[in-house]
Amino acid sequence: MPPLPEILSQLNDDMRANDTWGDVAAYIPELARVDPAQFAIAVTTDDGDVFTAGNADTAFSVQSITKVFTLAIALGRSGDQLWRRVGREPSGRAFNSIVQLEQESGRPRNPFINAGAIVTTDEILTGREPRDTLAEILQFVRAAAGDDNIHINHSVAASETAHGHRNFALAHFLASCGNLNNTPEKALGTYFHHCAIEMSVRQLAMAGRFLIETPKFPRMILPQRIRRLNALMLTCGHYDGSGDFAYRVGLPAKSGVGGGILAIVPGKASIAVWSPGLNRYGNSLKGTQAMASLARAMGWSIF
Ligand code: GLN
Repeated sequence: MPPLPEILSQLNDDMRANDTWGDVAAYIPELARVDPAQFAIAVTTDDGDVFTAGNADTAFSVQSITKVFTLAIALGRSGDQLWRRVGREPSGRAFNSIVQLEQESGRPRNPFINAGAIVTTDEILTGREPRDTLAEILQFVRAAAGDDNIHINHSVAASETAHGHRNFALAHFLASCGNLNNTPEKALGTYFHHCAIEMSVRQLAMAGRFLIETPKFPRMILPQRIRRLNALMLTCGHYDGSGDFAYRVGLPAKSGVGGGILAIVPGKASIAVWSPGLNRYGNSLKGTQAMASLARAMGWSIF
């Protein structure tokens, strides 16, 4: 097997050789302006080494990938009580589906679809102000990455606030079912801002280390919880594309509509990939291809 840096460099060339990049998210105007023809990948191994290829230091909007961090915080805060408000089953629906939430009386299927992440955010927000909640989320992400140079892009948050009609519909429906402790505006304001955190693939791969489960990094959450977060990433991390991703890649992972994907090789590595063009599920097109190639080349799979 060629060494990892060579594999990544080859992968970067392969991804750029083909001109089908997918479409950037159009419903958030700030994201619609991003050039889709970009690619970056980073791997942090359990030895603490980081290998990268492509635009590895370009910051991008991590969007739904923050749902992993907010879930870790919410479970740390509320424990199993959280599951009274949100389920743990794959949704088989688009990430912003409204119909399922109504059919299931306002209890979102899982914490990674939008409705579930709004509930998780609301749980962390309860009894506190958005500013303090966002500071805690940022602090968690920065500590995980070992990097204080990670910030929220306020233009992206404002852009989504102005155009996030579906999320407002979801939040108001949750409130009508009694599954929101804060006002929809407050819960969503916090949600949009944590989604607007920006990182490079290098920073994201570093931030993913807390999910590897290895004694070599400082422990941020309980080992049992690491396994459970990984289980949810595998089954729900790519929405209605989760089965396909598990079949093709075989690793727990979480995607974001900014074109990023964070995948975990338990006990071994954390992988971050970014390419802003999306497939029909709203997951990075080239990011998914690259994850599949890397997993195959390295023999990485949880199966
Ligand atoms: N902020 C985005 C939204 O709520 C996140 C969606 C995603 O990344 N899939 O629509």
